[in-house]
Amino acid sequence: MSIKRADVIVIGAGLVGSSAAYFLSKEGLKVVVLEKNAVGSGTSGHAPASLGLSLHYTEPPVLGEMSRWGSQQTMELAPAVAQETGIDVHFKMHPYFILAFSPQAWQEIRRLAPLQNLDYELLTPAECYQREPQLNREVEVYGALWVHWAARVDAYRLNLALARAAEQQGAQFLTRTVTALVKEGGKVAGVLTSNGEPILSDKVVLAMGVWTPDAAKWLGIPLPVHAIKGEQLLLEYDGPPILDAHWHGWGISSPPMSHLLITRRGNSYVLGTTGGPSNETYVFDNTTRPEAEHAIISFATRLLPCLKAATVAGRLTGPQPIPDDGLPILGPVPDLDGVYVIAGNPGVQCCASWGKLARDLVIGRPLAYSLKPFLPERFTKPVQAKHGLLAVGRGRL
Ligand SMILES: Cc1cc2nc3c(=O)[nH]c(=O)nc-3n(C[C@H](O)[C@H](O)[C@H](O)COP(=O)(O)OP(=O)(O)OC[C@H]3O[C@@H](n4cnc5c(N)ncnc54)[C@H](O)[C@@H]3O)c2cc1C
Repeated sequence: MSIKRADVIVIGAGLVGSSAAYFLSKEGLKVVVLEKNAVGSGTSGHAPASLGLSLHYTEPPVLGEMSRWGSQQTMELAPAVAQETGIDVHFKMHPYFILAFSPQAWQEIRRLAPLQNLDYELLTPAECYQREPQLNREVEVYGALWVHWAARVDAYRLNLALARAAEQQGAQFLTRTVTALVKEGGKVAGVLTSNGEPILSDKVVLAMGVWTPDAAKWLGIPLPVHAIKGEQLLLEYDGPPILDAHWHGWGISSPPMSHLLITRRGNSYVLGTTGGPSNETYVFDNTTRPEAEHAIISFATRLLPCLKAATVAGRLTGPQPIPDDGLPILGPVPDLDGVYVIAGNPGVQCCASWGKLARDLVIGRPLAYSLKPFLPERFTKPVQAKHGLLAVGRGRL
């Protein structure tokens, strides 16, 4: 199919690009999404996703507000697109159970929790053992945070549902690798693709996840997004069910295994870590390191000895798009009108709000929150502080 012109071009059909296409096509715009591989083939197809409070996205306050607002939007959008498309996105309200394994982690959790202004409980060690009697009493737990307002969703299925819903509204998804931007004066005029055909548009949304640095070359500006490994194992386990929550462990060990996640899905459990090594070459690396697998299993079975009876049924590893300072990159690029970047974490939580942001930027509507801390131009100066997962990955806990 040959398309010569669009109202807006979206590069990337991950969650962010598909959400942008969904909200833009809802406005009646002619939207073309260019994806070099397949819908959901990037990070979005490799993430177990939780929505709601993520303590490591609490600071600075603008990040906390953005991630809380983003979660709320995605909690509304996920069931709605599931209904629109008939794709079950496995959305479920699902509490967070954040355990502290060191006095410092417990202190930090108690400091951060009230900042999020959410419905939560602080649990004593005895209450943790009461909630989950299979918890190993030989592992020292200092307390836990139980957050009611949280949910989970299958990021890949949500990605597919958003793409389908966008298509139903008229958006066109094409398999093309974008190789350059077409520029006219100080404005964007379209893109060039690997099959040599230009597609013209005066609005381009870059939703390229860990590949955002490719666009930096086209633009001649720094857009430093690192690909930081998140490694996960899928366990099958038929023993007595483990407390159905999204478990986090803080203060477990130093990086690269900065914290452990356990999510229950029926008789399957996803165990994972975030904050593994950074891949600076932007090659999509979804191999699970044996040392990470060993660390995940050994900690999980120390925490919950019953999991020794579980078998590894699969591995799911993906690169998380983390900009140099840990904050997402959101907004227009400097010196070239019509190009907008939306990249970073937490991209599942925020996919709905970032899709709306893309719409508002393209249409020129007032924005729901200030983009000042997130603008692409900040990387023309040296980065002062690290936030989000990078703050955790630095070993603060
Ligand atoms: C293990 C793990 C756990 C996570 N947990 C959570 C969580 O609990 N909550 C949360 O909110 N987030 C979580 N994340 C992060 C979240 O998954 C990402 O922030 C989100 O998926 C990023 O979506 P995206 O659309 O920006 O990127 P992607 O899904 O990677 O999409 C980018 C797309 O752009 C395409 N592309 C790139 N370059 C080009 C080009 N030149 N031409 C055409 N197409 C191109 C790629 O092929 C790709 O499909 C997790 C990530 C991992 C790996």
